[in-house]
Amino acid sequence: MKKSYTHLEYEYAIKIRKPVFTVVLSDSLLHKKAYEDSSMQYFETTNISLYEEFKAIVLSKMVRFINDIKDIRIAVLSSLYDFSKNPSILGWVREISSITQTTIHKCYKCGKEELLPLKPDFNEDEGLDILIKINRWHKINVDRPGYGSGLDSMNVDFELCDECLATFVDSLVLKKLIYGDEYWDSIEEDFVDVEN
Ligand SMILES: [Zn+2]
Repeated sequence: MKKSYTHLEYEYAIKIRKPVFTVVLSDSLLHKKAYEDSSMQYFETTNISLYEEFKAIVLSKMVRFINDIKDIRIAVLSSLYDFSKNPSILGWVREISSITQTTIHKCYKCGKEELLPLKPDFNEDEGLDILIKINRWHKINVDRPGYGSGLDSMNVDFELCDECLATFVDSLVLKKLIYGDEYWDSIEEDFVDVEN
């Protein structure tokens, strides 16, 4: 019995030490697809044992399960992003796709992810919505702290979602210096408005 091309490709990638990540379509998605379109075959029926063997190898590595076809894009870009942050992988190009002009945002605090255009297109109806979504992501970059720092030599460059940044700012003892005098003078309801 022969291995599938996908299996062979996978083994070759491992052999030449290419970073590998796997996107696996969940069984529920496959069942859904099979139900919607009976003309396609979504399940391996001929080489079941080989398929199961390959699946077991793949699942032992870095893997993301997909419940919706549209999530494939975000899963791929998210994994590429993770590789781009791995200093042991050399020669990496940043995660921005020049064709689609989109970028993946990741909140390092809560793990939320969002795929967004680099900038809003106001010719489109959704331009303002996109701007609002982009503005709800915040880059934190303090470069590489030097010798003596607890974070010496680490690349402290990450992103937070709006909620996590707001929570962090709110936890600061000196937050008054950020919120300003109006924050202290205003009544409680006003403050709630400012935050939302
Ligand atoms: Zn967050």
